[in-house]
Amino acid sequence: MPKSPYSHSKLSTFETCPRQFEYRYVQRIPRDTESIEAFLGKRVHEILERLYHHVGRHGRPPSLRQVLERYRQDWGLHWHENVKIVRKDRDAEFYRLHGERCLENYYRQHYPFEDGETVAIEHRIAIRLDEEGSYRARGIIDRLVRRGTGAYEIHDYKTGAWLPPRDRLARDRQLALYQLGVLQEFPDVEHVELVWHYLAFRKTISMTRSPEELETLRAETIKQIDTIEAATEYPTRPGPLCRWCEYRDICPDPALDPTAPPEAPPDGDGRTRRTPGDVWSASATSAEASSGESPREGKQLLLL
Ligand code: SF4
Repeated sequence: MPKSPYSHSKLSTFETCPRQFEYRYVQRIPRDTESIEAFLGKRVHEILERLYHHVGRHGRPPSLRQVLERYRQDWGLHWHENVKIVRKDRDAEFYRLHGERCLENYYRQHYPFEDGETVAIEHRIAIRLDEEGSYRARGIIDRLVRRGTGAYEIHDYKTGAWLPPRDRLARDRQLALYQLGVLQEFPDVEHVELVWHYLAFRKTISMTRSPEELETLRAETIKQIDTIEAATEYPTRPGPLCRWCEYRDICPDPALDPTAPPEAPPDGDGRTRRTPGDVWSASATSAEASSGESPREGKQLLLL
């Protein structure tokens, strides 16, 4: 019987803290809080989706002023009382302005948005990991681009405040998994480029994966799914990310005092298992998980 498809975030949650995985994916304990990082990420992704739909429909981009006005409007419309700000040295306005800077950076860098043919935006990709289809993965490609015959690019927007080194991106699983899906879905693919946009840094990083690397990734992902499916115990693994964990209030790990206020945030100094920059993306995935689907699925955002 085919196993249910795994997202990159589901795999990562198990690797980061098996207990959090249990709460989120096995027991499916609902939570109505949303981290400010996830909230910000969603708003920025929605605006970039709108922007490219606008360009596709009208043949010209909206102005930067329109883009930022729409962002501010959406921020206010979607804001709710359960948005959680962990870092006590920052407020909602800090994050709203951070999102604004991300959008402005992207806009100025990519105007007039004619770089390649946009094949799909917020594209749900299904990935078969074995011939029989017993092992599957899934994800959402922020923007899929075709650049000439058979040349594709998988674009991903990052709103986090941490820029990973290239060697870390070279081992990144998420976009490489998406590449497997693109190779399966689009028969004309000859070449695939993985492209990360670190919006806060105005930095675009591109990489490719060899067929051998993809094969290794495929085999390792199957192995990891087997490990997860065979798990009968889900130990806690406390660390800096506990501050962002939506199950902190029920976590029995003695290293945690659920009533204690969060400490100063960890720096991205390599001593932590993840950095705050990662937290920004990881938090977005927790929102996906608690709702059972991506917060970005469900509707097409058309115009600014
Ligand atoms: S609070 Fe920390 S140890 Fe407990 S479930 Fe969450 S991430 Fe794991």
